[in-house]
Formats: sequence, C-alpha cells, structure tokens
Amino acid sequence: MVENLKKEISKLKREKNAIILAHFYVDGEIQDIADYVGDSLELARKAATTKADIIVFAGVHFMAETAKILSPDKKVLIPDLDSGCPLADSMELSKFKEFRKKYPDYYVINYVNSTAEIKAVSDLICTSSNAVELVQSLSADTKILFGPDRNLGSYIKRFVENEIILWQGNCPIHQNFSAEKLKVLKQNNPDAIVLAHPEANEAVLSQSDFIGSTSKIIKYAQESDKTKFIIATEPGVIHKMKQLVNDKIFIPLPPVTNHEQSICTDMKKHTLQKIYDALLKEQFEINMDKELIEKAKKPIELMLEKSLNLGLIK
Ligand code: SF4
Repeated sequence: MVENLKKEISKLKREKNAIILAHFYVDGEIQDIADYVGDSLELARKAATTKADIIVFAGVHFMAETAKILSPDKKVLIPDLDSGCPLADSMELSKFKEFRKKYPDYYVINYVNSTAEIKAVSDLICTSSNAVELVQSLSADTKILFGPDRNLGSYIKRFVENEIILWQGNCPIHQNFSAEKLKVLKQNNPDAIVLAHPEANEAVLSQSDFIGSTSKIIKYAQESDKTKFIIATEPGVIHKMKQLVNDKIFIPLPPVTNHEQSICTDMKKHTLQKIYDALLKEQFEINMDKELIEKAKKPIELMLEKSLNLGLIK
C-alpha cells in the first residue's frame, strides 16, 4: 500500500514536472520521497531556483508562502492547508505596525517564520542559519527591531553590539523544552553532546554545547567524533541524522509536560496520502496578491543575496 502510494507519487511528479520540498521536521517517510530536504534557508533557495512547474511543499504555511513569493509563476501546493506555524501566526500585522511606530528609525529584521504580510513590512528576512551573520554584516550602530522569536533574537545579541529590540514571541515547541530534564539527561549521559536550536529557551541554550539551525545540527552530529547527542530541537531531524550516521545515539530532549518528545504537530499533518492528493488534484494552492508578493519578495531576496555574498549558500 505505502509502496504503491510512493510509486504513484513518483509517476505524478514526472508527468507534471513537480518537485517535493520537505523540512527536516516532517515525518521520515515524507523526507524519504522528497526531492530535497532542508532547513528554511536551503528550501527558500531551492524554491527560488527550481525549474519544476509545480512545488509541493511539505512544511508549514509560511514556508510554502515563501516558495510562492520567490517563484510566483509556479504552482505551489501545500498538502495540508491547516499546517500553520504558531510562532508565525502569533505576530499580528496590526500589532507589529504599532510596535514599529514606536521605533521609526530602526531597521526591521524578521525571522522567516512570519507571514507574508509581516515580511512585506520588513527590511530584511533571516533564518536561523544566517541570522547572526546577517546582523554582523550591518554596521554596529544600526538599531534593529527583531521578531518574532525572542530566543533567536537573544541568541543573536550574544554576537553583536547593535541595539536590538525584540518582539516577544516564541515557538511553543522550542520554548517548552525542559531545562530540568536536560540537567538529568546530562548527568546520566556525561559523554553526550547537547545540540540545540536557537529557538530553544535560554535555560536550555545555556546548557548546550552547540547551537545552530537544523542543518547545522545535523552536520555537527555527522562530522563530530562523539557518538552520543542530546537533541534540543524538533526530533524530526533525528531521521536524517540516523540516515547519515546510524551508529550514533540520539536522545530527544523532552518537554516540560509529560510527553517523551516535543513534536511540532503542524509539521506532522502532512502524510503520503495528502501529498498524493495534492499532486493528483493540484490542491491546496498557495495564492497571493501580486502587490503583496512584490513587497514581501524584497527582504527575502536581500537575504538570499547577502547569504550568497557571505558564502552561506551556493
Ligand atoms: Fe513553527 Fe515551532 Fe513548528 Fe517550527 S517547530 S514550525 S517554529 S511551531
């Protein structure tokens, strides 16, 4: 059944000149059939350069939206329309505009985990892969408004002298990692290295050995001579890690609540069946107003241009 579905998906992809882009947080079986799996920066780059006619985006809504902004002439489909990002959705445009009014001469940098409307009123977009380098590329006297993730913003502050005012948002998954459980895991596994995403809360980050985007975390585990890692990001990344280095041990950091793992339920809404349906029926298409696309494209393209110049992407 599953194998048949995979064959049908491949057939439809060929017939329709479609590609599947997937984030590291989606289910492993979707990562396995994707043409490209990556973090937000890599996926944005792929979306901007693909020659496919259709992009099926297995990720949350803002990611599919970013793909559409960068490739407005292509059909961008999201297999489950309800796959949103609570962090992105928490930053309401009207409230952000009020916030911005208080700091009229500040340069606005927003995380890619934001809606197209928020991107359209930003000067520059960043991802967790390039945020520090992009801020470092500005002069030290550039005053910055940063949103929506305050943990990522605080992390950037460690590396620069710029004045940075933070929007007080966070990712419920990364904010909810348990620093207490991390302490215990470290005591029980003294040989383990802690790899964390900068969206994680400060109490977790302060106990981590390495902080980076999903791609950087995966690369670190692959290249390290250590064999045991505690993973403080959504455990979907462990699928790729095990494929790359199956003789190493990966321990997902649990949340404060009683669950064993911190799962991003929005990312997990996509299934093989939904991807098949998306390709077959060409649903659910991301559509946006042309003016919005043009406005939102500027700060994303600036991010890609700067990232290319800084050698962060190819
Ligand atoms: Fe949004 Fe957090 Fe899920 Fe990423 S892990 S998509 S930031 S809710």
